[in-house]
Amino acid sequence: MASLHIKTPLFESRPLSLQSGKRVWLKFESMQPSGSFKIRGIGLACEEYSRRGARRFISSSGGNAGIAAAYAGRHLGVPVVVVVPETTSDRAKELIENEGAEVVVNGASWQEANKLALSMLEETDFFVHPFDDPLIWRGHASMVDEIVESGVRPDVIVLSVGGGGLLCGVIEGLRRNDWADVPVIAVETEGAACFAQSVYQGYRVELSAITSLATSLGARQVCEQAFKWSKKYPITNLLVSDKSAISACESFASDHRVIVEPACGAALSAVYESVAELRSFDSILVIVCGGATTTIDQMQSWSREFV
Ligand SMILES: *Cc1c(COP(=O)(O)O)cnc(C)c1O
Repeated sequence: MASLHIKTPLFESRPLSLQSGKRVWLKFESMQPSGSFKIRGIGLACEEYSRRGARRFISSSGGNAGIAAAYAGRHLGVPVVVVVPETTSDRAKELIENEGAEVVVNGASWQEANKLALSMLEETDFFVHPFDDPLIWRGHASMVDEIVESGVRPDVIVLSVGGGGLLCGVIEGLRRNDWADVPVIAVETEGAACFAQSVYQGYRVELSAITSLATSLGARQVCEQAFKWSKKYPITNLLVSDKSAISACESFASDHRVIVEPACGAALSAVYESVAELRSFDSILVIVCGGATTTIDQMQSWSREFV
């Protein structure tokens, strides 16, 4: 069977190159059929679980991981249950249900939804983690294979970090293509900075709360593997405000006619705001991680509030 993800477009952004005075390349993971890069890793993991005899997939993500699990289940003919907290938007629930998955709402926060999800697991069920699974990283790494195949070799890769699955996947991809000298800029919003905090403090910090509206970056703790990479891979941490992330979403919508979540706007804002961390690089590749849950109305109301 063909993979569940698609090969995504990669091209130089004329507007971003003009604005920054550098060459800026975009890898459009926003074009994945589930709306984000997550289908690469979750698709590969679900295919493997299905080979191992999975009769049901269970997820506790009300965001793009839940949507990707639902998408994978529909294509593999495996039923999917996604347990989400009460805070999950109607839009996100609708996207999950449109993929044929069952949505169960439980609890005020992700912790409670996750607890119920784990308690539901029966022997032939597989839990689909949003970011902390070597299969997921291996799947995400395919986006780097595509970059390498395209012949574009950037001086640096800019990406967003939530729980660190995307980061681990990109580093795995860089290493398996002998590109381990390409550094990574890991962007988080200030209210969801579990990775940067961990690097600064020297241990894996658990945030007491997420205060960013980039909800797809809202993991309270980064995965162990991402923390390990911070000690042996050239990674620069970058924190941006919600305001910068939203403003980047707006500029991106007008420059490239694509709507992305603030989680993705965070990475784009590094270029839109010409951050000092990019100064020494001439050729920059941004992973446009996408995100399916932001509507036009939502984006406009955020802009009125912040920008
Ligand atoms: C999940 C997600 C992220 C963060 O990915 P991690 O693997 O959790 O670090 C960033 N952007 C979007 C749109 C996402 O869905």
